[in-house]
Parts: sequence; structure tokens; C-alpha cells
Amino acid sequence: MEMRTIGLIGGMSFEGSAVYYRAINEAVRQRLGGLHSADIIMHSVDFQQIVDMQKSGRWDDAGKKLASVGKGLTSAGADCILICAVTMHLVADAVEDAIDVPFIHIIDETARALSAAGCRKPLLLATRYTMENGFYAERMKRQGIDVIVPDPDGRTLTHNIIFDELCAGKVLDGSRQALIALVEEARQQGADSVIFGCTEICLILETDKLPLPGFDSTSIHIKAAVDFATRND
Ligand code: GLU
Repeated sequence: MEMRTIGLIGGMSFEGSAVYYRAINEAVRQRLGGLHSADIIMHSVDFQQIVDMQKSGRWDDAGKKLASVGKGLTSAGADCILICAVTMHLVADAVEDAIDVPFIHIIDETARALSAAGCRKPLLLATRYTMENGFYAERMKRQGIDVIVPDPDGRTLTHNIIFDELCAGKVLDGSRQALIALVEEARQQGADSVIFGCTEICLILETDKLPLPGFDSTSIHIKAAVDFATRND
């Protein structure tokens, strides 16, 4: 079987992208057996440059940057493109417009997984941009899913845990407990599930150890990429 090549736009952060690299390879080895591994091309960017663009609201520049990275990956032979970060799906349209291969969209894949499980009202744990900017909730809404977010203090807490700790390679038990408390609060307010809506949340939380069913968008995204790469058609 001829496997398709997976193109990864990574580095945002490299802690999250490392999960993609390992888990995609593990899934391919498990599916195909032996010493099979995935055919991957990753372009890992300097995250500080992206963070500076995020902080100053230069989303157009960020879109141009990721579009050029995506185009480069397809020129190098990628058969599909993934952005290994949820926040940067804010500029997914710019990337999709620049490439002529399928773009595997993390929000669409996550919405499909929630729908399949019958979940309609998830708590979203993500960066401030993802929780507040509207692009995530709007795209979920199209698939009939009403995302809820923590209160302002909870959003600040989650955003800071992502940037100051998880993206910096720190996983702290106190932060884990604080995030679990947010999930419990959301459960009491009627949430039926929780989305790990940032590609580093899986470093600190486990989907089956929470007061609500968890949906890890990193592993959902990875599964979609592996399905695409190993599909027999
Ligand atoms: N990787 C993160 C995400 O999935 C956060 C880093 C970023 O803002 O790009 O949103």
C-alpha cells in the first residue's frame, strides 16, 4: 500500500507538535504492523515570532506566514496539511487558499467526534484567542454544537497555564487541579463534555479522568491524519 505523506505545520508550540510526531507514528505502526512508520514532513516554526503576531493582533501576517509554510510543505510532497495548533486555525482559510491538497481542520474533526458521541454542549478549554475570538464557537455551531467557555477568571487561568507552563515544558499538579475544578463548575452549569481545545492540554489532563467526558482535539486531529494517510482508495 502506498501511504500518503502528512504535512505538519508545527512548532506552536513544539511541546504539542512533539505529541503529533510520536502519536502519528505510533498509530501507523499499530495499524500497519512491523516497523511501519508514517511518511511525515514537518515545518516547525519559531513560536516566539508567532506569539508576537498573536499579541499584536497581526493575524494577517500570521496567515501569510503559515500559508507560505503550507505551500512549501506541498511543494516538498505533502498530500495533506495540518496546523498542529488550534489557535492558529484562526488563519486556516489563508492556508487552505494557498494549497491544492486537503486541509485537515481540527475544529471540524472535533465537532464530528462530539456529534458521534451525542455531545452538544461542551466546555472549551483553550487559549484566550480560541475562547474569545468567535471563530471556534461559530464553526462548532455550524455542526449544531454550542460551546461554552469558563468565566473571565477561568479563561485567564487557562490561557496562562497554556502559555506560561505547558508551552514552556512545565506540567504542574496545582494547575491540573485548577483545570479539573473548571470542568466540575461547567458540569454543574449543564455542560455535557469538555474539549481540550488547545494542542497542549493533553499534556496535563486525561480525557477519562474528569467530571465530564473529555475530547482531546490533538488525538482526534491525529486520528484524522492517519485515516487519510492510510486510507485504501
Ligand atoms: N498550541 C496551542 C493551541 O492549540 C496554543 C499556542 C498558540 O497559541 O498557537 O491553540
